[in-house]
Amino acid sequence: MTEETYTGGCQCGAVRFHVRGVLKDISICHCRMCQKAFGNFFAPLVNTKGTEFEWTRGEPKTFQSSNVVTRGFCGNCGTPLYYDAPDGLAIAVGAFDHPEQLRPVVQFGVEAKIAYCDELPSLPTRVTEDDLEAAPFLTDLISYQHPDHDTDQWPEAKS
Ligand SMILES: [Zn+2]
Ligand SMILES: [Zn+2]
Repeated sequence: MTEETYTGGCQCGAVRFHVRGVLKDISICHCRMCQKAFGNFFAPLVNTKGTEFEWTRGEPKTFQSSNVVTRGFCGNCGTPLYYDAPDGLAIAVGAFDHPEQLRPVVQFGVEAKIAYCDELPSLPTRVTEDDLEAAPFLTDLISYQHPDHDTDQWPEAKS
């Protein structure tokens, strides 16, 4: 088994984390609670059991969503960050700097799955540039999102 390091954090950069170890327990959960907590059709999560996990900048705010589960999110920008249950701490896949490394292997809570989830891959596709006519403000877009790597200081000092 190779030791790997993963990094990630919220959209604004106030909360950052490191994981050392091997992440393999990757899922999406369709349950109604995960839909709400992520504001999404389903929640992509990776269990950190057996790894070394640490918050390296800031700490999430929490909401106890049931008697056994606590959910964490950035109190500054609202990014959903974790699901903590008796079977371990699971981190939101999209919060990682490289979510493409974390391929889901199972779907949970499918009794609550929104039926059109199965139709998503057949929807028409567009790249951002296709939308410039309808949304010309995208031409002048300046991102305030934290970059997909650790930073010494954030927001970056203005030079
Ligand atoms: Zn944030
Ligand atoms: Zn769920």
